[in-house]
Amino acid sequence: VLGGLRSPARGTVVLAIDGLSLDAAERAWTGASVRCLTSTFPSTSVTAWMTALTGTDPSQHLAVGMLYRIPRADRLAHVVANRVVEFEPAAAAAEAATAGAQATRQPAAQPETAPWRDEDVIAPQVTLFERARAGGARCVVLGRDMDKIPGPWTRSLFRGAERAMPSDRQEGMTGEGEIADPARYAAALTAEVEGILAAHDDGAPLLLWAYVNLDDHIHRHGYDAAVHNVLGYLEQAAVAWADRQWRVLAHSDHGQAELRPDARVARVWQQVSSASCCRLPSGGAGRARWLYPKPALETRVRRVLAEQLGDQVVIGSPEELAGWGLWRLTPGLRDRVGEIVAITTAGDFPAAKGHLRFDHGGVSEREMLVPLTIWPARER
Ligand SMILES: [Zn+2]
Repeated sequence: VLGGLRSPARGTVVLAIDGLSLDAAERAWTGASVRCLTSTFPSTSVTAWMTALTGTDPSQHLAVGMLYRIPRADRLAHVVANRVVEFEPAAAAAEAATAGAQATRQPAAQPETAPWRDEDVIAPQVTLFERARAGGARCVVLGRDMDKIPGPWTRSLFRGAERAMPSDRQEGMTGEGEIADPARYAAALTAEVEGILAAHDDGAPLLLWAYVNLDDHIHRHGYDAAVHNVLGYLEQAAVAWADRQWRVLAHSDHGQAELRPDARVARVWQQVSSASCCRLPSGGAGRARWLYPKPALETRVRRVLAEQLGDQVVIGSPEELAGWGLWRLTPGLRDRVGEIVAITTAGDFPAAKGHLRFDHGGVSEREMLVPLTIWPARER
């Protein structure tokens, strides 16, 4: 991206597409070559956008999933919401289990301010925007769905960028984040990008980073016609911008894999991740989870997982994961993840919401392989 800003183009538009898998991009984008990138481990937005925008890995920025332990507070943080996550009351958990529903992760009343500082959650890193600005570019973030997230994560991600006007991100979507009208959704998004490009005075190259949330829709419906159509409209817009000397680059943070809900996995998982076995609720993201077992029960929890879910779940210690090349284990990372890591390869852990049909966090090709596509600016 930085190299492109020095090219003859007027600047670069980055379409940051949440949840898009490599193969869905390859099917939709026929006017440019789609290259393959690898997501982070865990393959989730919190981790992957941090890595994409800072060039550092999770051992450096320490954003290792949506939920992890904050060592200074010894509490589990929900990083996007910037709040403590507690074990849910036993009665609610039992009710959810008997109803066959997925256990909710929404805690009861939470303190107003999180009991940690931003830098306890995410280790500050230099962002792409700070580097681009140092090189003379003007940086603008069109955050859309991310605009409603105030915590340390977005503050760390967007350091050095101006924030565009608030977006009408609901246009063409349902309240649940499903794409109800692909044409309207894409038109609203591209109109917002157009507005920023038109207002830019060309005094400096522009780096515009626009967030495109397909993730919520894909969680519910997978890579369906609505997703395909939005991608088609985005390519049309990208070609038109490229014609007007903008370089357009699109990439995603992670893909998603189809879930096969399994009552047995849910039951065993609920047992081993409960307050009777663990010091903190489980962390991680979707299909990769961190467990913080009580020291006296660690061996037993590991044995139960291996014996009962060994065919569907890969179990390892943080050190073993480092040996498998999934992360570079540093003391900071070690203090955030628990003693046991569980990655599902087949079924599903009880998801945050029972209606999810697709999820991510794990290491399958569907989750890990993501697209990078560039529509080069037409020569002036
Ligand atoms: Zn997601």
